[in-house]
Amino acid sequence: MTAHPHLSELADQYGTPLYVYDLDRLDAARHDLFGALPEEFDVFYALKANPHVDLVQALREGDGRACRAEISSTGELAAALQAGHDPGTVLYAGPGKTPGELREAVEQGVRLFSAESLTDLEHIGEAALAHDTVADCLLRINDVTARAATGVRMTGRPTQFGIDSETIAGLAPRLCSVPGISVAGLHLFSQSNAADEQALIAEFEHTIDTAARIERELGVPLRLLDIGGGFAVPYGQRGERTAYPALRAALGAALDARFPGWRQGTPRLAVESGRYLAGDCGTLLATVSNVKVSRGRTFVIPDTGINTFGGLSGLGRILPVSVRVESESTETERVTLAGPLCTPGDTLGRDVEVPAGLRPGDLVAMPNTGAYGPTASLLMFLGRPAPAEAVVRSGDVVSVSRIEHVRTYRKVKRAHD
Ligand SMILES: *Cc1c(COP(=O)(O)O)cnc(C)c1O
Repeated sequence: MTAHPHLSELADQYGTPLYVYDLDRLDAARHDLFGALPEEFDVFYALKANPHVDLVQALREGDGRACRAEISSTGELAAALQAGHDPGTVLYAGPGKTPGELREAVEQGVRLFSAESLTDLEHIGEAALAHDTVADCLLRINDVTARAATGVRMTGRPTQFGIDSETIAGLAPRLCSVPGISVAGLHLFSQSNAADEQALIAEFEHTIDTAARIERELGVPLRLLDIGGGFAVPYGQRGERTAYPALRAALGAALDARFPGWRQGTPRLAVESGRYLAGDCGTLLATVSNVKVSRGRTFVIPDTGINTFGGLSGLGRILPVSVRVESESTETERVTLAGPLCTPGDTLGRDVEVPAGLRPGDLVAMPNTGAYGPTASLLMFLGRPAPAEAVVRSGDVVSVSRIEHVRTYRKVKRAHD
């Protein structure tokens, strides 16, 4: 496959490594996700996937329905506000919210939080009370029976996320009486990147059953039920977003059975997604710096590595990236795609099919890189500049930007002064 001519022009103009985000594709993903859900559903965009303000803003405005913002830091809060989100519609989640972050979020107008434990709930309540207000909280649940529906009965593992579901009944009186808190609903997020629609449906059905049971144990009617996500798109590889043609009807049926008032808004329903919305709008362009052979194996070394794409390699994964290249050649060969960093960990793929005979100066393109790109990468490691990020709409460049790191010094008191 050859790189789109427009992409090579952008690479010429702005240099590589260069991310190109196509807002038309972002719109299409949003349209497809809303279309796969009953119309009563809200969609939270998890800024973790890509907090670029132009993307966050595009997901909020335009012809389609607006995504709400799900954030878990003051940096993401700033991006959401800059993108025009009303702080009152934002969901603040995450296992380690500090008192300072919570205070700032409440001051900025955030009123909806996901609480991961009783102490987290108390911290949110303290921040709300300090601001003379009450915060709506979703209780995040670590479901002891998650995935039972797919045939693999797992006891819920210990994790830093959520409140163990089996403890809810006993904790209910305390959870529901934290000063400064109104328990608004539940948040269950049990999986990512589920490319199998039937498995995803089974998971959601199970989640809805669990939520109905927990509602009874809490004795508080749910106003908002966030059933999580898991919508899939290839990551750095060729391929299409998964389609979910049966999901809408299946969710409707499961909710009718457990929450008869849901079509009237009791509870309101939500899902959340990062990668499905942002993943396929992005292409990472890189220039081959060097090609070498070591003991019979070919190494292609572009000007991009885990400093630019693939900080999630911290999870111990090798990214099986695929590349497109500006080349008429139909012959291919298998190479190791190694980044420029001085660590063997900087390997983008060990058995990557590329057009035969790549040379220094050739442009390569990595598809489906709109989510978990720059901000999920080891941006500062080995001191290379962050990649440029170009946003395009209908073939026109909307913006070009780059994240900069600067060390700022603070005044220190010295013993001898
Ligand atoms: C990471 C995360 C998401 C987004 O996951 P994707 O796989 O990118 O859709 C959504 N919700 C929560 C709570 C998360 O931690």
